[in-house]
Amino acid sequence: MKLIPLEIGRLASDGRLLTGVEGWIDLPVPSWLIEHPDGVALFDTGLHIDLQSGPDRLGRLAPAFRPLFEPGQELGARLEAVGVRPTDVTHMIFSHLHFDHAGGTAEVPDARIVIQRAEWESAKHPKLIEAGVYNPDDFDLGHDVHQVEGAHDVFGDGRVTCVPTPGHTAGHQALRLELDSGPVVLTGDCVYFARFLDTMTVPAFGFDTDLQLESMATLKHLRDHDGCHLLFGHDDAQFAALPEVLT
Ligand SMILES: [Zn+2]
Repeated sequence: MKLIPLEIGRLASDGRLLTGVEGWIDLPVPSWLIEHPDGVALFDTGLHIDLQSGPDRLGRLAPAFRPLFEPGQELGARLEAVGVRPTDVTHMIFSHLHFDHAGGTAEVPDARIVIQRAEWESAKHPKLIEAGVYNPDDFDLGHDVHQVEGAHDVFGDGRVTCVPTPGHTAGHQALRLELDSGPVVLTGDCVYFARFLDTMTVPAFGFDTDLQLESMATLKHLRDHDGCHLLFGHDDAQFAALPEVLT
């Protein structure tokens, strides 16, 4: 099994929202490609291609974000660059459905979505859509949707497992991979940066801070007691230092 990190553009964000610090910070937007013997999965799909022409698609959220996103960095192009056709992708597993995690979904036509039921339901809530928290045009595009509840073994062999980590959103999940080099956990937005886990920092916004702290404790346990290597949601230094392929 292989894990290939893909950068689907970058996002400059209002630091007050993310870290409580004034100023803009520039973050990678990852999609993670997983080549398993029985299928090809993505964990999150990055930014929507329309964001290459500016943040207007984000509606009410637009003032808080500036996409740094060029033609050729969209999901379809990134897949082709590593020899994968978008039609080869069998599963799209989502940490959650915020715009920077589900935007590339339209570029992958045939895959089955794997998502926590609580996230799928939350993402259709009219008030959250109106507030710009979710945009159904990112993800509700007619794909087959497998709504799971709790831990879920994606390929039935224990090598790719959804780990519920609610808090950032109602149905957020992390993904655990059993690579030959050892277990890896993709944290999604349960933890943006490595330093947030050390200091147990939760950004000001989010669905439920206490729940997120519990989920962060779960990930810390996986790191400290199960030997899992954690790959964080938007950690620039960690992401930049990753090899092209993890095995
Ligand atoms: Zn998010």
